[in-house]
Amino acid sequence: MTHTIHAEPLTKLCRDIFAAAGAPADIAALVAESLVNTNLFGHDSHGALRVMQYITMIRAGMIQPEQRPQIRKRFGATAMVRGGNGFGQVGARFAAGLVRRLGADYGIAAVSLGQTTHIGRLGEYTAHIAAAGLVGIGFTSGSMYSGWVTPYGGRERLFGTNPMSFAVPCPGDETLLLDFATAGVAHGKIVLARAKGIPAPSGMMLDKHGKPTTDAQLLDEGAVLLPMGLHKGSGLAMMMELIPTLLAGHRPISAPDFSFGNPTLLLAISPAAFDNDRDFAEQVAALKARVKAAQPAAGFDEVLLPGEPEARAYAKRSQTGIPLPDAVWADLRELAAELGVAIPGL
Ligand code: NAD
Repeated sequence: MTHTIHAEPLTKLCRDIFAAAGAPADIAALVAESLVNTNLFGHDSHGALRVMQYITMIRAGMIQPEQRPQIRKRFGATAMVRGGNGFGQVGARFAAGLVRRLGADYGIAAVSLGQTTHIGRLGEYTAHIAAAGLVGIGFTSGSMYSGWVTPYGGRERLFGTNPMSFAVPCPGDETLLLDFATAGVAHGKIVLARAKGIPAPSGMMLDKHGKPTTDAQLLDEGAVLLPMGLHKGSGLAMMMELIPTLLAGHRPISAPDFSFGNPTLLLAISPAAFDNDRDFAEQVAALKARVKAAQPAAGFDEVLLPGEPEARAYAKRSQTGIPLPDAVWADLRELAAELGVAIPGL
């Protein structure tokens, strides 16, 4: 069962909960907007579902809600940003703004974000880079406290769900936005299946004995997530485990001093620096049109572009509202009651 709520009251509720838990007004608003936008884009695994997790982390001293990011090191067109274990969304938004400025100035730039808690939807930040006419690329180690994903052929949790994202600017048109976990499915989607009391998608999990399962409840009983795309996704997951982690000053999961977090690397590339930005835009538009015109395979009505399912969900949910699982709505009401926050419309 779900409770449908429009984006505006849901954003206000999340914002007021974060503010009551100690976040300054602008930070509470940024994090609430990021989560609810993620619901609008259809990725409920990274939306308001996370409010309970973040408040629990604040109470445990794992998120410092008032902390703001700082630049720890600058070298040419690169920088290391430290989030101070504030909200990950705040640090990632800062890092995205910095990398796109550096990318516009130098043609190519890279900014890492360390000391960061959960950043949410990685595509939010690559899209922010693309909105300035640059190609945005993002890599994140999603290990957080521990891994979830087994390497191909194994049954041990050694990688996070480690998303990667590519955003290609399309002037006058939707950004081409690819944004996915290198796990077959984001961990949050199994959590969501568990909250809804439904099975996990098939082919995405092994139980603790290494046998395929769709029982989302087994997540707490040693089940592992599979990487996407067999050995290739497993290799990508390993790269996402290493590259952003080390460049952000964190330690990988194999290290005895593995550190909690969601370390991220953002890259910005300016087509103008390669002297062909007009041709770049035309060719992106032409390939998009060609892909859209591809004949659908049996069982498909049409071919979709990366970012298209999210754009459609956004258009629909902006009108009809966001269907929250009852368990998520109950969490929000519980938090509101505990923190003395009014529930909009009640
Ligand atoms: P997913 O499996 O739904 O894949 C999403 C990507 O595939 C999008 O780019 C989408 O446009 C594209 N896509 C989906 N269906 C398509 C189709 N039919 N044709 C063409 N393209 C299609 O997403 P996911 O892997 O579950 O990830 C969901 C979100 O979770 C992402 O925003 C990701 O950044 C986030 N995430 C974050 C963390 C973290 O640690 N912060 C970890 C994992 C995932």
